[in-house]
Amino acid sequence: MERTLFEPEHLLFRESYQKFLEQEVAPNHDKWEEQNIVDREVWKKAGEQGFLGMDVPEEYGGGGVEDFRYNAIITEETTRGGFSGVGFMLHNDVVAPYLLKLANEEQKKRWLPGFCSGEIITAIAMTEPGTGSDLQNIKTRAVRDGDHWVLNGSKTFITNGINADLVVVVACTDPDKGAQGFSLLVVERGMEGFERGRNLDKIGLKAQDTAELSFTDVRVPAANLLGEEGMGFIYLMQNLPQERMSIAVVAAAAMESCLEMTMQYVRDRKAFGKPIGSFQNTRFVLAELATETTAVRILVDKFIEQLNDGKLTVQEAAMAKWWTTEAQVKLIDRCLQLHGGYGYMREYPIAKAYMDSRVQTIYGGTTEIMKEIIGRGLNLS
Ligand SMILES: Cc1cc2nc3c(=O)[nH]c(=O)nc-3n(C[C@H](O)[C@H](O)[C@H](O)COP(=O)(O)OP(=O)(O)OC[C@H]3O[C@@H](n4cnc5c(N)ncnc54)[C@H](O)[C@@H]3O)c2cc1C
Repeated sequence: MERTLFEPEHLLFRESYQKFLEQEVAPNHDKWEEQNIVDREVWKKAGEQGFLGMDVPEEYGGGGVEDFRYNAIITEETTRGGFSGVGFMLHNDVVAPYLLKLANEEQKKRWLPGFCSGEIITAIAMTEPGTGSDLQNIKTRAVRDGDHWVLNGSKTFITNGINADLVVVVACTDPDKGAQGFSLLVVERGMEGFERGRNLDKIGLKAQDTAELSFTDVRVPAANLLGEEGMGFIYLMQNLPQERMSIAVVAAAAMESCLEMTMQYVRDRKAFGKPIGSFQNTRFVLAELATETTAVRILVDKFIEQLNDGKLTVQEAAMAKWWTTEAQVKLIDRCLQLHGGYGYMREYPIAKAYMDSRVQTIYGGTTEIMKEIIGRGLNLS
């Protein structure tokens, strides 16, 4: 399908990012999958070449262009290459908006140059061992003590958790106030009492560090409060739609690349003396998957435009998140089936895509929670 979303400058950006992936990521990714973490060096190289903080103003070392299409290009190309270890999406699409919209001048000067150069790797910590979907039930607590907040609690499943130098932590600062009692605190590498637990052993996304974090009487300077005290939950609700769109961008790109690799496979693989692509079942399965991939692409591109124009609603982002990721998981399962036994072998990219994709319907808000959000907007009762 011809895409009309991009201008010539985006195409140049895409080419230069593809070159970066070829040179700096492709030769290392297998090693990173084995070690369950990428080398920090790749972040610095991405920073040097302008792939971190594209929308951060130039005065802080960023690209100075507020245009989500650049973020989408990075996510698409990373996904198409199967380079699921590099956590640039989390850094650029998920954490950057918090720093850009909420940080004061002093904080911006302190954090954004490192964010853009790749010296400061970021993460966001909402989920806890006892609660994920029900965010209002988090137990991590921060109590004010003079010029500091004293932070206690633990988080889990945190993307970039081992490599992160700066973690936006969601903490309860006033347990009596319900949703109005949450605040965002920036915890930095080296703060006493901030420990990293296990780098979690996942079924996919093997090169990405996903970790447990714990906070024991961490004295976080009051100057590290992001935005206003008590507004944390509202900030999360404002920023989650962009995170959900980024996950939908992954879904569309993964569907396209898995469909392409499967079409090639069924042309080459023979059974009963002919290519398996010549069987009616193969044609029908791929016809359905090609239709669904096109539908997902149309929706994702339309919603990227809306996001760029500030017009993507919370409900629309939830629609994109659940529908595209469920379609992705289904497509990859069907594509793996068409690969036969080879589809089950890790050396085949479809097997890796299968393992990497499964989490898509879970993180960033599960399919069920997305349907709750959409359902609430339908005013049914
Ligand atoms: C690889 C990976 C990376 C992640 N990265 C991050 C990160 O960087 N930062 C971060 O904060 N979190 C991260 N997460 C956490 C992720 O967002 C949560 O796992 C997710 O929100 C679900 O929460 P949970 O695991 O506690 O599941 P639960 O909330 O316990 O849900 C379990 C099941 O119950 C269902 N359920 C729950 N409530 C309802 C309801 N009201 N109605 C119907 N069904 C319901 C869910 O849909 C799900 O099927 C990551 C997770 C993974 C696996």
